Amino acid sequence: MFSKILIANRGEIAVRIIRACKEMGITTVAVYSEADAQALHTNMADESYCIGAAAVRDSYLNMDAILCAAKNSQAQAIHPGYGLLSENPEFAQRCQENGIVFIGPDAQTISRMGDKDAARRAMIDAGVPVVEGTDLLSSAEEARISAEKIGYPVLLKARSGGGGRGIRPVYDADGIQSAFEAAKAEAISAFGDGELYMEKFLKPAKHIEVQILCDREGNVAVLGDRDCSVQRRNQKLIEEAPAPTLEESVRQELYKASVAAAKAVQYEGAGTIEYLLCPDGTFRFMEMNTRLQVEHSVTEMVCGIDIVKWQIRIAAGLPISFSESEIGRIGHAIECRICAEHPFTFMPGAGEIKILHVPGGMGVRFDSAIYQNYIVPPCYDSMLGKLIVYSRTREEAIRKMRSALSELVVDGIWQNSELHMEILSQDAFLDGTYSTDFMNDLTKNFKS
Ligand code: ADP
Ligand code: ADP
Ligand code: MG
Repeated sequence: MFSKILIANRGEIAVRIIRACKEMGITTVAVYSEADAQALHTNMADESYCIGAAAVRDSYLNMDAILCAAKNSQAQAIHPGYGLLSENPEFAQRCQENGIVFIGPDAQTISRMGDKDAARRAMIDAGVPVVEGTDLLSSAEEARISAEKIGYPVLLKARSGGGGRGIRPVYDADGIQSAFEAAKAEAISAFGDGELYMEKFLKPAKHIEVQILCDREGNVAVLGDRDCSVQRRNQKLIEEAPAPTLEESVRQELYKASVAAAKAVQYEGAGTIEYLLCPDGTFRFMEMNTRLQVEHSVTEMVCGIDIVKWQIRIAAGLPISFSESEIGRIGHAIECRICAEHPFTFMPGAGEIKILHVPGGMGVRFDSAIYQNYIVPPCYDSMLGKLIVYSRTREEAIRKMRSALSELVVDGIWQNSELHMEILSQDAFLDGTYSTDFMNDLTKNFKS
């Protein structure tokens, strides 16, 4: 086992990883930007290194500085968290070249699955159903011809997309040219890669994903499914495990497809396969995230397995030692992403947290990196933390979440717990039938 790990991330996920390391007796090394000298992860780690200015390109995306900190501190492995360098094949490669273990799959797998167009083709070869779509498109004209074949509405999507960016819906031929240009421009600015492909725009549909864990010996453990259909701007707001209203036979098919997908690419580590589930019970592969996900925690709550610890063990070469029957699938977990933004206009806010009160009690978990008098810097992702509840039934979990949300106090900045309360009172949420359209329908009411 490693004795020292560097965490190349910030915020709640850096704290989450530091906690796992501490419990495993592993010394932790934090890296931080000039804006994060007072951040929780900086203070919680055994050692911390400043790696550059506030902007992520100067610090948290600065591979040279991070590798230098790893060498100086003699860390044996780097955990990349999510976002930032977690799906960057060049970084995984450079870790390896420097004799440092990258906690995640190898560079080749990251680049294969990170290129969504290549991933689609790999899944077709593996016999996994994919959303009807195209290979890369060379022009808006080619997109128009493809759209005629597929039938409107369609989505233009960035090959290198992530975080819901580089996606544009098109409803008719007149919209193609401007959507193509807009998606391309957004993709270039967000990912430095403007390549686009097209998919049939499936709706109504649910975003259902499957969490897997694979070791070097080829064992694939399916830890469970999540429903992440509560999204705004294609970004998740609430996730739950298991997916409500998912028929058991469909669940088994999803698990089978996920095992086939993992085996096809000889996957190693924790990964998530995202699908769209249609009302007729058919599902289609959307993408694979070759990293820890924000919402991994709801799966941990229901299956009783610490995913971060297993990522570390697998990267150290240990085999999965629990059996299928030891994976708990009892109860229900829900996560609300608490973001520093206005609950109804989504305007981002930053500044000092004057008063903080965190809810507690049995089955209540708050993964965050905030504290009273902490100044939320304006330069990073707006997520302040994740409020997670676990209970025996979904109904109880919803009640527990309402109670926990009503206890949460974050004074001094905007935060969105009121929006979560609103969502938790909607019929479509309560009966579990909500689709990815849910937030669009809800926010229409805000405006009217
Ligand atoms: P998940 O699939 O785990 O829910 P999200 O899509 O919400 O992940 O993204 C997780 C975090 O990573 C967010 O903070 C998001 O802004 C960031 N992120 C996602 N993809 C990228 C990317 N390609 N480049 C930079 N940051 C990203
Ligand atoms: P990202 O890498 O940004 O997470 P995804 O491919 O996972 O991109 O898509 C993000 C979200 O956009 C999905 O969760 C889903 O809500 C929506 N979406 C993506 N592709 C489709 C599609 N073909 N039809 C309907 N919705 C889609
Ligand atoms: Mg996705």
